[in-house]
Amino acid sequence: MYCPKCRAEFREGFSHCADCGADLVNGQPPESEDALRYVEMVEVFSTYNPGDIAFIKSVLDGEAIHYYFQGENTNMLVATGAYARLLVQEDQVERAREILQELELLEK
Ligand SMILES: [Zn+2]
Repeated sequence: MYCPKCRAEFREGFSHCADCGADLVNGQPPESEDALRYVEMVEVFSTYNPGDIAFIKSVLDGEAIHYYFQGENTNMLVATGAYARLLVQEDQVERAREILQELELLEK
């Protein structure tokens, strides 16, 4: 799966681009000079709780983890019952999971 606008690649299970919200397309992104800059983001956690989001952000900032919260807008969370998804740079997923487990936000 990949985003036709950003050419970012996502694993199966994603339906929208984490960066621009565009619908993902099946297959591999076309080769381009941008390809080298692309970093895969992997979902490691999701929550309905805005308090969790603020907490996780402060911890991940301290650990220099590159992350992105998709759908973190608190008003949206409350109004629609949607949840926020924590996406982490692929090569830091393991470390991020360890941190979340230490915080007892993720089960081991
Ligand atoms: Zn995109």
